[in-house]
Amino acid sequence: MTSEPIAFWRTKSLQEMSSEEWESLCDGCGRCCLVKLEDEDTGKCYLTRLACSLLDIGSCRCSDYPNRKAKMSDCVSITPEAARTLSWLPATCAYRLVGEGRDLNWWHPLISGTPDTVHLAGISVRELARSEKGVKGSAMQRYIIGPAS
Ligand code: SF4
Ligand code: SF4
Repeated sequence: MTSEPIAFWRTKSLQEMSSEEWESLCDGCGRCCLVKLEDEDTGKCYLTRLACSLLDIGSCRCSDYPNRKAKMSDCVSITPEAARTLSWLPATCAYRLVGEGRDLNWWHPLISGTPDTVHLAGISVRELARSEKGVKGSAMQRYIIGPAS
């Protein structure tokens, strides 16, 4: 008799996961790597379709994940606490879903068995994003796609 592997995200809290489990929970959507702009007057945060210059838009993965904090000082680490409190983390984010006691969606690589489904389902930013490289700060607001939360 064969047994199914245990779906760790259904049995463990975010805090209980090993670092390998934690990393595998990221669906690779790249949504958290889109540039956010804050309105200084209102404090409201807006999402743009500009991707961090370190994001490989084809794969929607960070091109230098181990050194990301050294290269991008404003890169925000997703932690259990951040998953609970970051208002701009997308509703589809696996850390947010699991932190809220919900299950992963069919397109998550841990469910589908392939990283392709996050793109096929239109969840990733592959078709939406363009790199922030070469876009001046004053021109960034042209790329706003909506509120960040
Ligand atoms: S939004 Fe969440 S699941 Fe998507 S890339 Fe960012 S951390 Fe990973
Ligand atoms: S440094 Fe990497 S992980 Fe951080 S926002 Fe940029 S692409 Fe995303």
